Amino acid sequence: MLNVVIFGAPGSGKGTQSELIEKKYGLVHLSTGDILRAEIARGTDIGKLADGLISKGQFIPDDLMIDILNGQIDQYPTAKGFIFDGFPRTVPQADALDSMLKRRNIRVSIMLNIDVDTNELVKRLINRGKTSGRSDDNLQTIHQRIQVYETKTLPVIQFYDRQHKHHRIQGTGTMEEVFERICKEIDSVISYSVIW
Ligand code: AMP
Repeated sequence: MLNVVIFGAPGSGKGTQSELIEKKYGLVHLSTGDILRAEIARGTDIGKLADGLISKGQFIPDDLMIDILNGQIDQYPTAKGFIFDGFPRTVPQADALDSMLKRRNIRVSIMLNIDVDTNELVKRLINRGKTSGRSDDNLQTIHQRIQVYETKTLPVIQFYDRQHKHHRIQGTGTMEEVFERICKEIDSVISYSVIW
């Protein structure tokens, strides 16, 4: 089974690249941001909680996020593998993902860290905000999201470094160029069958 963690700051292109990976490798794409936005659209209790936090650029509490993801994995018993997009965003979430997968006798194969500098991130998110309709793609929330990313999410890199699963991907250039870099890393993991 191939399980990919797609990692990066807001605006780094995780969603776009996940869709390309999903198509090419036939994996199930689990985007926690999309899952939460679907809850908001359905007006559920989780959606109501998420709505306020997302628009302020804050995280949903770890315990809740972990439960949600665990439930999602169960919905795809025949999956060839997963792309985890937007999860883990904290070290406790990374720990929980390891345990969740271990219980199912699988594990994270590779963590791809799409690296884009902050100025470029802000530019991309402001641009996206013109058409995305997302409550968090505005200047104030963008800065908050980047700050939360730097304090809570960056330590996740060391977590995967220690497991020798972290691969940095240069996130600038065209979508196709970034995808090519990603495929190179995934293909090398596929050929190294021990990781499966
Ligand atoms: P995204 O679509 O991945 O940019 O996520 C949008 C927002 O959803 C984030 O800014 C958080 O408020 C929330 N969110 C998504 N994934 C997580 C997560 N793993 N942990 C906590 N909050 C999350």
